[in-house]
Amino acid sequence: MATPYDTTLGLYIGGRWISGEGRDTHVVLNPATGAPLAELPLATAADLDEALAATERGFAAWRATAPEVRAAILQKTAVLLRERMDRIARIATAEQGKILAEAKGEVAFAAALLDFHAGEALRIYGRVLPRSGGARSLVLHQPVGPVAAFCAWNFPVMNVVRKIAPALAAGCSIIIKPSEETAGSAVEVLRCFQDAGLPGDVAQCVFGVPDMVSRQLLASPATRKLSFTGSVPVGKHLMKLAADTMMKTTMELGGHGPVLVFDDCDLDKTLDLLVAHKFRNAGQVCIAPTRFHVQEGIYDAFAAGFATRTQALAMGDGMDAGSQMGPMANPRRPEAIAAMVDDAVGAGARLLAGGAGGDGGNGFFYRPTVLADVPLTARAMNDEPFGPVALLRPFATLDDAIEQANRLPYGLAAYCFTENGRRQNLLGDAIDAGMVAINSVRLSYPDSPFGGMKDSGHGSEDGPEGVQAHLVTKTVHMS
Ligand code: NAD
Repeated sequence: MATPYDTTLGLYIGGRWISGEGRDTHVVLNPATGAPLAELPLATAADLDEALAATERGFAAWRATAPEVRAAILQKTAVLLRERMDRIARIATAEQGKILAEAKGEVAFAAALLDFHAGEALRIYGRVLPRSGGARSLVLHQPVGPVAAFCAWNFPVMNVVRKIAPALAAGCSIIIKPSEETAGSAVEVLRCFQDAGLPGDVAQCVFGVPDMVSRQLLASPATRKLSFTGSVPVGKHLMKLAADTMMKTTMELGGHGPVLVFDDCDLDKTLDLLVAHKFRNAGQVCIAPTRFHVQEGIYDAFAAGFATRTQALAMGDGMDAGSQMGPMANPRRPEAIAAMVDDAVGAGARLLAGGAGGDGGNGFFYRPTVLADVPLTARAMNDEPFGPVALLRPFATLDDAIEQANRLPYGLAAYCFTENGRRQNLLGDAIDAGMVAINSVRLSYPDSPFGGMKDSGHGSEDGPEGVQAHLVTKTVHMS
């Protein structure tokens, strides 16, 4: 089947689209077939210098732009994203692999994020503290300055909007480096901003050799904030670079989502929710449910129900209406998952479903997989799998469940299923995670903070907190 990849890749600097012109290139692939889709130009050091100069000019102009104007541009961008949803979703599926329905949902959520941030742009309030004799102190929240943002390929539209929208709402300019592997989606998002009237220097989009780009942008005194979505090791590395200029940071890193399933839950409903959520985006989601800790009395029924539902899932090209799970985004992922599954089975885990790649072809497929009785020593129980593998283990008591949930250095997302209200409260308090879902799998809304703790990072995105993360506080004392 022909893949519609209706976009022109380039760098966007100072309001100008830059194509190849002798630059090195990266070939964007279709994960469903392994076939090349397009060539992406990579930024040179001179391009990055130009982007840094533009972002400084952009900041000076944008911070002085009325909040109402900022809000109107964010809102108009949302309108354009919705108008272009079908085409952008097809580009996202073509280069990232997720099924088309998920790609459309992602575009819709990105538009909702823009609407929310348009409102927040109008609500950056300060405080007035009255003093004796008519004196007063003013507490002002001002934009921190130009932002350097780096984001991953798993939500190629939404991750880009999640970085740009709060920066612009706060009055900051931004240079974003999305993933080279999913450049088309990012380019289309930038075109929406451009067509909505965003002045040229305010948002730049670059691609390149990630290590070179981040070193150059973070070494510049022009950059006042780092915002990163990606793996824990890369996040730690970038924070060290950011320390040299003491810039503000927001780190949205990996997770290893524990799921605590108690014997009083509605088992069928819980299984339906969890199986659909586990294999969304082929498991390549930072908040994916990963370790399923199930109370002993229902463990066998849970495992059987999980395996049956998983075996029934249709894996295929995300463009095909019949596919329920697409390929993984790049060739590194199925290789990593195969190694983790082999390691777990070697350590004594039981394979209940999946456990292999696709049916030939050059696509980056790995079947939805369920492993039961996975030993705590297995690598998958300790490192983020970031793929379509569910890991099942039994537990006995509430205390055991909490101990398991908090066992790893990650602290991003957690899920609990129980009808007992007292237990729900205890779990909400006791689990070390930035986001906890109870009898639900929904953890992300535009108005609620999204982020983690411990090794999963710090600083929230979305909600008022996402904009606050782009502000600095100043106090002015007036006699
Ligand atoms: P990776 O860590 O090499 O890359 C992840 C992203 O970070 C990519 O988009 C890449 O362009 C960027 N990146 C890598 N090195 C960088 C650098 N020095 N400077 C700036 N950006 C850099 O891993 P990968 O193989 O692409 O993905 C696998 C791992 O990434 C998974 O184990 C998972 O933990 C993590 N990941 C997390 C998220 C998330 O939403 N938190 C999303 C995607 C990937």
